[in-house]
Amino acid sequence: MRLALSLLFCGIFSLGFSQTYPYKDAISTLCSPTFAGRGYVNQGNEKAAAFIAQEFQKIGLQPLKRNNFFQNFSFPVQSFPGVCQFIVGNDTLQPGIDYLVDPASAGVQTPRQYTLVYCNIKSLYRNVNAFRPCPKDRMLVVKTSGFGGDTNKIMQARLKELQQFAAVLEITTNKLTWSVSQTVLPYPAFIAKADKFLSQPSTANIQLESVFNPAYKSSNVLAFLPAAEKAKNKPYIVLTAHYDHLGMMGQNTYFPGANDNASGVGMLLYLAQKLAKERNPNFNYVFIAFSGEEAGLLGSAYFVAHPLLPLKQIRFLLNTDIMGSGEEGITVVNATLFKPEFDRLKELNQEGSYLTQVKSRGPAANSDHYFFTEKGVPAFFVYTMGPNKNYHDVFDKYEALSFAEFEDLATLFYKFLNSFEPTH
Ligand SMILES: [Zn+2]
Repeated sequence: MRLALSLLFCGIFSLGFSQTYPYKDAISTLCSPTFAGRGYVNQGNEKAAAFIAQEFQKIGLQPLKRNNFFQNFSFPVQSFPGVCQFIVGNDTLQPGIDYLVDPASAGVQTPRQYTLVYCNIKSLYRNVNAFRPCPKDRMLVVKTSGFGGDTNKIMQARLKELQQFAAVLEITTNKLTWSVSQTVLPYPAFIAKADKFLSQPSTANIQLESVFNPAYKSSNVLAFLPAAEKAKNKPYIVLTAHYDHLGMMGQNTYFPGANDNASGVGMLLYLAQKLAKERNPNFNYVFIAFSGEEAGLLGSAYFVAHPLLPLKQIRFLLNTDIMGSGEEGITVVNATLFKPEFDRLKELNQEGSYLTQVKSRGPAANSDHYFFTEKGVPAFFVYTMGPNKNYHDVFDKYEALSFAEFEDLATLFYKFLNSFEPTH
């Protein structure tokens, strides 16, 4: 008993105060099949939230709220938890590789055969009238790649119009990129690789089980690390990363979301452990793993509308996403808004020769920093750049992460965060 206990304490002690945080293990865990792409099938999203709370606790952080690490909220979401089958002639297309279900697609709950109707592009370019009405056993096939910029825009708009009154299959030579939808179309909608349709097959057999949840329950996970010198009204530094991803498309296909954004959660935990070891005297730290980012920055929007700390007391917020690369440096969103902070970050990078490039970018509504920026909270959103272009697809796996600059970047962040003065 005594031995077991002392071993246990030793374990907690070593994780909290001596070793560095095992970020690769955490990232690999978050990408594993058990976590089901941290979305809306097989409780992937909830499992990830529970795992992060447990890691916060192991590191020695306190819940930001009095009793628990979670801030609950809900949102509508379409999901595909069952059969997902797309057969063309004798060819069963591979989900995630040959095709994607449109995230807003209606389900096809029992198998159904569709006659494929290849749309005349010139006619469609003018308007959708020639294709209306469309019998329910037909699926309109529209090629959307290979056009110039303006034509492309028009074809995308036509596609949206068709989807309102017909089952539609978009075919493309472009990379397949998935997302999440809060709404459902009236008909099924798919996107597939054009090379599977070169011989213009005439029928498709489809089954797609879908479940629309009008109020999916999810949580932001929040932890607190008080300033070493306790006093009332200490300012805050906030670190954030979204933990949700796209989940599953059918029973057999999941989107691991390794770079986006298990890697950012790994960075959050790694920094949390480093900051907990040597606590800053002047700043309270808050760590937030947001949910609902991929569905439309929903977790951060909810937090900003229901803040658990005074937003005015946030001295700086650092949001990280896509932390697994870095061979080509990093991009800093909001760099132009916070020039002195950006110059300091660049200077620290030069001093330590960490990254090949620290690139400036203006404000953008592309991640969880956005609503904070709108409320006047100084914030950076940082993402790495490199040869790993897997994004919102089944190839964004743990094995594809190079971690080329992860530790250098963590050191740079650490120095940057410690360079803040308590008053500005
Ligand atoms: Zn992301």
